[in-house]
Amino acid sequence: MGIKVSPDIAGITPYSPGKPIEELERELGITGSIKLASNENPRGPSPKALAVLNAAAKTLHRYPDGGGHYLRQGLAERWKVTPDQIVLGNGSDEIITLLTRAFLQTGDEAVMADPSFIVYKIDVTAAHAKAVLVPLKAYRHDVGAMAKVVTDRTRLLFVCNPNNPTGTYVTASEINSLLQAVPTDVILVFDEAYYEYVTAPDYPDALELLKSGRNIVILRTFSKIYGLAGLRIGYGLTTPEIVEHLNRIRPPFNTNSLAQNAALAALADEEHVRESRRLNIEGMAYVSEHLKRIGLSAVPSQANFLYFDVKRDGKAVFDRLLREGVIVRHLGGSFLRVTIGLPDENRRFIDTLKSVLTA
Ligand SMILES: *Cc1c(COP(=O)(O)O)cnc(C)c1O
Repeated sequence: MGIKVSPDIAGITPYSPGKPIEELERELGITGSIKLASNENPRGPSPKALAVLNAAAKTLHRYPDGGGHYLRQGLAERWKVTPDQIVLGNGSDEIITLLTRAFLQTGDEAVMADPSFIVYKIDVTAAHAKAVLVPLKAYRHDVGAMAKVVTDRTRLLFVCNPNNPTGTYVTASEINSLLQAVPTDVILVFDEAYYEYVTAPDYPDALELLKSGRNIVILRTFSKIYGLAGLRIGYGLTTPEIVEHLNRIRPPFNTNSLAQNAALAALADEEHVRESRRLNIEGMAYVSEHLKRIGLSAVPSQANFLYFDVKRDGKAVFDRLLREGVIVRHLGGSFLRVTIGLPDENRRFIDTLKSVLTA
């Protein structure tokens, strides 16, 4: 009572994470439900990551390495950059927060697609800046329109590539025209959370662009293909100058010791990544083919999820799937997003959707 809240904060719609699966099952009186809602790796974490957790747990009475020395070194070797080009975050989410706090002031602007990853808008607004939303065109980033809304107040421009929730990607030539059109002092943030799933040959090499000297931040995460979402760890690849600014406001121990150790081990587990990618390609083909057979075509996706139009009340379809123990994401109107699961999860999703739609 009586507290004074910034109108910017009061105006934010909170991110809605959904209930824990156990709670949902208790409420609905069901068991054995499957979660295809958060683009997690259905195979679980890398066994190599799990194997280092016990040893790492023995030093839990110590603070973590605030500099993330070994993980940054491992990432630097992997991506052929220097460790001072890497910032670690409590999930790549936290790096988005740091970017908005470090580079936005009241009245500044940040450009992003709509719909895209909702965190950009929340964090930009919380930094008292203006989120400039550019509608997708045919489910894809409209890079021409995004370049046109850049003003002298624009500090950040987000490209979610592939885009969450649609799964579409921005091509290398589109990125090149964007780089031509946008002043070099605007920081381009390429959110590549699904990077390891991409197969398109004309997907841009953002690291090359960074190495060419542009003010670029590439966001990657251990939450998706690496299967470590619960540990909360992601990273940004950028210029030493941008890292230096982010480090001024980064909480000293923002990534925990279990996460740092597990991430380093997961990074080395190429077999786990390869097999996860293969399973995703197979599952994606199965789900999109069967959606087509029931008259629903999904948007072509470069990630580990599909976005599709159920051509009726999407919330009602979502709720009925939920009552059958199939958890997907409703994204407003008639659109749903489903994460590609294990083969039997994909079959169950399609079978349940069929029965829900014909009921
Ligand atoms: C899942 C996701 C993230 C990653 O979030 P973490 O905080 O690393 O778990 C970032 N961006 C997009 C577009 C995502 O879908």
